[in-house]
Amino acid sequence: MSHVVPASSTQPSTAPTTLVVTVTRHQCPHCRRTWAKRAAAERHVARCWRNPENRSCKTCAHLMPAEEGPYPEHPGWPEECSKGRELPDESGVPLTGCSLWGPTA
Ligand SMILES: [Zn+2]
Repeated sequence: MSHVVPASSTQPSTAPTTLVVTVTRHQCPHCRRTWAKRAAAERHVARCWRNPENRSCKTCAHLMPAEEGPYPEHPGWPEECSKGRELPDESGVPLTGCSLWGPTA
């Protein structure tokens, strides 16, 4: 636990104690992450899994989402590709640049 330091009694409580700083950040329009540097943001957008131009599993009509089992003791089903591509498991890294990619409706 940290202590809250009371404001100085010699100053009125309305005196500004902080400066307002406006910063420019660069945001990926696909996943909403932001970067301080535009170049870093642009590097990201070029390989963002949510960018349809990168044809990744995350934006593909053929990705079938993981499902839970029908009851707690039953294992669930992992994400699958309805076109039969092998999806990387555990790593969480989707395929990109897939030739079988199709846009979602
Ligand atoms: Zn992104």
